[in-house]
Amino acid sequence: MQSARFSRVDSHVLRLEKDRDLLQQLTNYCQENEIDAAHISVIGAVTEANVGFYDQDEEEYEERFIDEPMGIIQASGNVSFLEGERFVHMHGTFCQEDGTVQAGHLFNGTVVFAGEAILHELEGPRLERVQDPATGLTLWDL
Ligand code: ZN
Repeated sequence: MQSARFSRVDSHVLRLEKDRDLLQQLTNYCQENEIDAAHISVIGAVTEANVGFYDQDEEEYEERFIDEPMGIIQASGNVSFLEGERFVHMHGTFCQEDGTVQAGHLFNGTVVFAGEAILHELEGPRLERVQDPATGLTLWDL
């Protein structure tokens, strides 16, 4: 296991915009406010979602597009750097009209109906993702 020590600085409270991409809004906010590392939590609703499951044998994501309104029961994730750019990594749990839950890694194409996000900014060493040969993922280099 690798670890590093960060301290929590500001908490940012965001009201996400309707009809705009969830990940893109969070990424833009982090770029504009120079947030280099953070924990993010979101609740609200989406008009559609693009979620993924990582196939550990194939070492690739299977994307699944869900073209219907759903509640965001919980989406959480983090901010770090990938290839020198701020990268928002989020997973989400969504609720369909009949109560069925859909969940996964969030991709672009998840569109906000309403969203309340709280972003806890962290301060510490540069948090950078690097290719991990054991998993095929880009993981933190601590
Ligand atoms: Zn993920």
